Amino acid sequence: MSALTNITLKAALDGLKSKAFTSEELTRAHVEAIEKANPHLNAYVLPTFERAVEMAKASDAKLAKGEGGDLEGAPLGIKDLFCTEGVRTTACSNILGEFTPTYESTVTANLWRDGAVMLGKLNMDEFAMGSSNETSRFGPVVNPWKAKGSNAALTPGGSSGGSASAVAADLCLGATASDTGGSIRQPAAFTGTVGIKPTYGRASRWGIVAFASSLDQAGPIAKSVEDAAILLKSMCGHDAKDSTSLDVPTPDWPSFVGKSVKGLRIGVPKEYRVDGMPEEIEALWRQGIAWLKDAGCEIVDISLPHTKYALPTYYIVAPAEASSNLARYDGVRYGKRAEGKNLIELYENTRAEGFGNEVKRRVLIGTYVLSAGYYDAYYVKALKVRRRIAQDFDQAWTKVDAILTPSTPSGAFALGDKSADPVAMYLNDIFTVTANLAGLPGISVPAGLGADGLPLGLQLIGKPLDESTIFSLAGALEQAAAFKAKPEKWW
Ligand code: GLN
Repeated sequence: MSALTNITLKAALDGLKSKAFTSEELTRAHVEAIEKANPHLNAYVLPTFERAVEMAKASDAKLAKGEGGDLEGAPLGIKDLFCTEGVRTTACSNILGEFTPTYESTVTANLWRDGAVMLGKLNMDEFAMGSSNETSRFGPVVNPWKAKGSNAALTPGGSSGGSASAVAADLCLGATASDTGGSIRQPAAFTGTVGIKPTYGRASRWGIVAFASSLDQAGPIAKSVEDAAILLKSMCGHDAKDSTSLDVPTPDWPSFVGKSVKGLRIGVPKEYRVDGMPEEIEALWRQGIAWLKDAGCEIVDISLPHTKYALPTYYIVAPAEASSNLARYDGVRYGKRAEGKNLIELYENTRAEGFGNEVKRRVLIGTYVLSAGYYDAYYVKALKVRRRIAQDFDQAWTKVDAILTPSTPSGAFALGDKSADPVAMYLNDIFTVTANLAGLPGISVPAGLGADGLPLGLQLIGKPLDESTIFSLAGALEQAAAFKAKPEKWW
């Protein structure tokens, strides 16, 4: 059966169309793989196997008549941040209890419209706050990759750790994920998968549990650049239910993968050469530059002078918005309730018991930077710096068509390594948060293995709404890197 799980989404869609196998066979193969792996990897927090088989049968009926959408019959995993009608959705927080939405997020509704099959809900950091998937109420996710000569359990990254681990371990053909400060791209880099965050406003936020609304964007984690393009195309589109959704057409992104990148100008920002960056990350970056040069690109040195303020700015703006968004979890309207003598005590007990430590830290920071005496000094200042960061990119786009950087400052680290030190954890997001602050599309492509045998990724950042160019460049990197390594199936 493993032959049906270790293929790409594109290969599966072709196989379904040519009737080489049915969606039911494909889905059951994935169910079997999940049953075997999940006790070890903890990627799925709620399998929905019965629903999956039903959806697969419905797809098979359509495929038999030569009908069906772009994803007809393809089994996917869904991050537990996306509301799924009739299926428990918790953002992996205790405070949501057994919350079961009566509505479907727009992004997942788009996937079902196009014929995808839901295998289950995927693990993540609580409310998508984290870079290691260790803050989930369901426990950490384990990366299927292991470092050479070590048996230590590694993080798949976060917050979309379940999505990344499931895709890398062949427990779905692709997965939904979300990216507020890197949560698609960093886990993709840590697991040898492809992850793209589109331009802010491309994917509707409606029905996605909110973290920091001006930064949150949905996107896929996938096995190849082409698969990512197929999934993103299905996920995006204008939605009147999200006031920040852009009313612009969704291009046919898969057709841009494999296109020539000759003549494109690629910016290499000097500020991303950060202190203490391991030499192998530098080497990977140089290699990426050489690959794009060979593909006919022109390499341009650029400066994004406000880069050093990106991380502190993000860690003011994101907690500020989170503290506001999370005010709704009061024990009255959603999920879990802890009783109290009066209403105030009910609120206090519910929030004290329901939120984990990292979420509490964010709510405290966010409330502080928004409070009367500190609003101007922190929050307003951060918004001004955010504007400067966006202007750096605007400047860059007068000289280049896309920007190449490493995705992360290191490969996957061991579970427990950074969980006691929030600042060390936040430093992981150093290359990814800028694209969120500026609303730009960013993709991580697996580009090689480090000395310890773990995958490393390169990031491409694009102009607003120019995912098409990013897909062409990512395709070129993928082809040059010829990254074929897979984690050994030790479970
Ligand atoms: N690691 C970042 C954070 O903890 C990013 C999270 C995300 O993108 N959802 O805020």
